[in-house]
Amino acid sequence: MSEVTQSVTQLVDAFARLPGIGRKSAERLAYHILRTNKAEALGLADAIRQVKENVRYCRVCYNLAEGEECGICRDVKRDRTLLCVVEQPRDLLALEQAGTFRGLYHVLLGRIAPLEGVGPEQLTIEALVSRVRGGGFREIIMGTNPTIEGDGTSLHISNLLAGLPVEITRLARGITTGSVLEFANKEILADALAGRQKF
Ligand SMILES: [Zn+2]
Repeated sequence: MSEVTQSVTQLVDAFARLPGIGRKSAERLAYHILRTNKAEALGLADAIRQVKENVRYCRVCYNLAEGEECGICRDVKRDRTLLCVVEQPRDLLALEQAGTFRGLYHVLLGRIAPLEGVGPEQLTIEALVSRVRGGGFREIIMGTNPTIEGDGTSLHISNLLAGLPVEITRLARGITTGSVLEFANKEILADALAGRQKF
């Protein structure tokens, strides 16, 4: 790669920083972009720009949104007494694709992971507690991943919510412990929701 131009090197470096992309793959992608027609390549650049300029976190639930609030929070047909707590927007998406949950969500934007230096204050837990304190919910469903860290996060939150007049439940364990929601299939997620149990 010693004879490539600076622009190409920059592109390879940028690809190589993406998760799961090694140096060889980054070079392959860069050369693919060089060969591809201009409209297509600039379309990719535009899509990245649009996502960075237009997409932000919903000010209510921290799902991805274009505008102040996400489509789910704005949807008047959702059941506003049910709240499902998930780790990431992609977990929310997996549950939405299962198609059975009609309540609202709260996205934590991570999980408590002491070994990685992630404490409760780095998540949206405070916003969650004040949201629940605001009233109107009858059930909070813990939809964190069935991992040690996901379970620990749910436990922490349920302790914070103890004493508030809401029922706290968690997804049934049709989901194998240690697996993650985003890779579970629709049927398993629908079952996990239907069979949820008291926390
Ligand atoms: Zn929202």
